[in-house]
Amino acid sequence: MSSVSNEKELGRNEILSFMKEENEEKLKELYKKAYKIKLDNVGDKVYYRGIIEFSNICQKNCNYCGIRKSNSDVHRFTMSEEEILESAKWSYENSYGSLVLQSGERQDEEYIEFVTGLIEKIKKLSNGELGITLSLGEQTFETYEKWYNAGAHRYLLRIETSNKELYNKLHPADHKFETRINCLKDLKKIGYQVGTGVMIGLPEQTEEDLVDDILFFKDMDIDMIGMGPYIVSEKTPIGEIAQNSKEIKKKRFELGLKMIALTRIYLKDINIAATTALQALNPVGREAGLKAGANIIMPVITHKNYRKDYQLYDNKPCIDDNAVECKACLENRIKGVGDKIGYGEWGDSLHYKNKKKM
Ligand code: SAH
Ligand code: SF4
Repeated sequence: MSSVSNEKELGRNEILSFMKEENEEKLKELYKKAYKIKLDNVGDKVYYRGIIEFSNICQKNCNYCGIRKSNSDVHRFTMSEEEILESAKWSYENSYGSLVLQSGERQDEEYIEFVTGLIEKIKKLSNGELGITLSLGEQTFETYEKWYNAGAHRYLLRIETSNKELYNKLHPADHKFETRINCLKDLKKIGYQVGTGVMIGLPEQTEEDLVDDILFFKDMDIDMIGMGPYIVSEKTPIGEIAQNSKEIKKKRFELGLKMIALTRIYLKDINIAATTALQALNPVGREAGLKAGANIIMPVITHKNYRKDYQLYDNKPCIDDNAVECKACLENRIKGVGDKIGYGEWGDSLHYKNKKKM
């Protein structure tokens, strides 16, 4: 049976034995240890990144995603610039410190210019104070650089799985694993704080794969992690073959918490998000994520009218709420965990800052 070692670094075998651990007491001990490492290394502040999911138009066809190009049941939208800036202003006025712009993937000129304009205008309306993270998929070096120069300073691009074979099963042939890796390298070269992550509990994914994902985060010297359980989107090729029993959902949730805890113990000073997907599987999933070592929450501030059309997976929580309701609800949830909220702060990755000092 596994017990938490006091050595500086966990070895691969030790991480694997925790990933397979089923004993509730041992797991409680693991989460407690990860929470302590969080307090010792990044403190008890939870930082917000208000997320604006501004468009569900996507040129890609990832086999697991509800808004993939081939899903003709989706009503496609792009929020107007005015609506996006209004949401950004709300974040600023409510001291969210930082926001994330997320959308389906597009690489056309019109889109690139639209995003560049958004970044510049958000910087302006917040006197340079709002931090901007982008989650806009694969782009050329030039586009990433343009957006960086416009004022974005963090970028989230999940590797989805570090197992290339599995990656190839999850995507059509023209979505290349190598391109994704090169994008992560480009982002780092340009100077972004780089975030990545994986989906947890995918069909055919093993515990060994998940351990390798954690080692991948370290090898790539990643600054922040946004990862969460895979959740079935029924009208997708993977959703059609994936199991979706109560037991498997419980397992995906538990693996999600184990991944957070083990990543915190292994990598210590990075930012780790407790994602909405945890909450989709368990009403107090994000709180459990914070207790297992996460220190970032990404409250959805997308306008209520658009939430129902931005469903990467089925049963996305809070689609009937607005940003104000989410704020009050989250405050109570975080207080319940015993953490504080870093209102008005960027909450940059300490790992990134520590690197800069070297
Ligand atoms: N288009 C951009 C950003 C939006 S998708 C991109 O792909 O990077 C953001 C993330 O949603 C993806 O990286 C993927 O990990 C996650 N996602 C998509 N479908 C999902 C599903 N069925 N279950 C859980 N997460 C999913
Ligand atoms: Fe598009 Fe991102 Fe969904 Fe892939 S995961 S289909 S790129 S929105």
